[in-house]
Amino acid sequence: MSVAVQPDIVGVVAQHVALRRSGDNYVGVCPFHAERTPSFFVFPGRQRWRCFGGCGISGYVSDFIARINSEPEPLPRKDEPAPGKRGMTITELAAGYGLSASFLYKLARANKLPGCRRLGWRFVCLREEFEDWIRAGGKD
Ligand SMILES: [Zn+2]
Repeated sequence: MSVAVQPDIVGVVAQHVALRRSGDNYVGVCPFHAERTPSFFVFPGRQRWRCFGGCGISGYVSDFIARINSEPEPLPRKDEPAPGKRGMTITELAAGYGLSASFLYKLARANKLPGCRRLGWRFVCLREEFEDWIRAGGKD
């Protein structure tokens, strides 16, 4: 019988949270919300943890590692096109940057819009190159 090797939950959590023993379990200040009274429990017997305070979240050691290592979500800027899209249409660029779509189409058709390439009947633009062009003053 093989046993999957898992890092011990107490050892892992203790790298991030000051734990003290409470009976069979451990308790500390929750690393996932602001609190003064410790309500973050680690249960070595079940290899689980749970916050009984503000966030109420729980999980296994892998969930703890994923959560403690995750970056906080950046707040979207309202003047920014939806993130995570590399290829954008000219309509999206125009709307996202408050520019005239017909002006951008004219430039793109004249091959003067950096990062924009014709793809079938439309143009697809690379946001990074477009942003460089905007920062440089939008000149060809
Ligand atoms: Zn919490």
